[in-house]
Amino acid sequence: MVFDMNFDGKTVIITGGSKGIGKAMAKKFSEYGANVVVADLDEEKGKKLASEIDGVFIGCDVSEKEQVDELVDKTVEKFGSLDVIVNNAGIGSMSTIEDMSHEEWKNIISVDLDGVMYGCKAAAPHLKKSEGCILNIASIYGLVGDVGATAYNAAKGGVVNLTRSVADDLAQYNVRVNSICPGFVRTPMTEEALGDDEFKSYVESMTPLGRVAEPEEIAEVAVFISSDKASYVTGVNLPVDGGWTSH
Ligand code: NAP
Repeated sequence: MVFDMNFDGKTVIITGGSKGIGKAMAKKFSEYGANVVVADLDEEKGKKLASEIDGVFIGCDVSEKEQVDELVDKTVEKFGSLDVIVNNAGIGSMSTIEDMSHEEWKNIISVDLDGVMYGCKAAAPHLKKSEGCILNIASIYGLVGDVGATAYNAAKGGVVNLTRSVADDLAQYNVRVNSICPGFVRTPMTEEALGDDEFKSYVESMTPLGRVAEPEEIAEVAVFISSDKASYVTGVNLPVDGGWTSH
């Protein structure tokens, strides 16, 4: 049997693909030959990236089910099939249970958890045809808790078990479903927090490798786990975290 990381002729949707981890994944999948659909709220950056990688930009708010359905329909119309959806779009929040407003909870859950579920649901019928796969971007904060991450911890914990459940549902169709749980990564999302020396030291002290990740370090794993090289990997929530969850 020959397994490779070739994505020639395959179509990959990456939500939240305009920046950060999503952007690094879009570039990496494109390097491996995929038709990449960058789906994001940020039209300017998304269009620029899409033109650089010979991909396509589709505007989409993942917290709106109809927009996610439309994203998948438009992709299949344009490329004829869908092979991978990477449910990456997400937003952060830093509130304890006491400080958190009801609106904050609703907003985080709707983007970080509902958005992932909409992506899985809309993609499933097409992935059954292509025997493709789903990759969700969860977080170490889906595997462990931390102070001031109430809604985010809950949403990402939901993504972790949603991943297992959808993997079980779709395994009979040879559709694989996994998540990556990154530790702290240098992206626009974390720029401000990591600009604070005290917080950066905290993150480094919690990370056995002693540093934050670059987005490309997540993208490499994303391409591998979505490729034929990982053909027996499903239902996995893989920490890519410099060791954060090892202790
Ligand atoms: P980022 O730098 O903020 O980029 C996220 C992109 O997603 C932005 O372009 C953003 O657009 C877009 N987006 C936000 N809400 C959206 C929505 N409702 N619909 C569609 N697009 C939306 O974030 P990142 O750090 O790359 O994070 C990507 C994923 O990794 C997230 O799920 C995050 O939770 C997860 N993660 C990140 C880290 C980390 O340390 N960076 C660690 C663990 C997990 P706008 O900027 O215009 O809003």
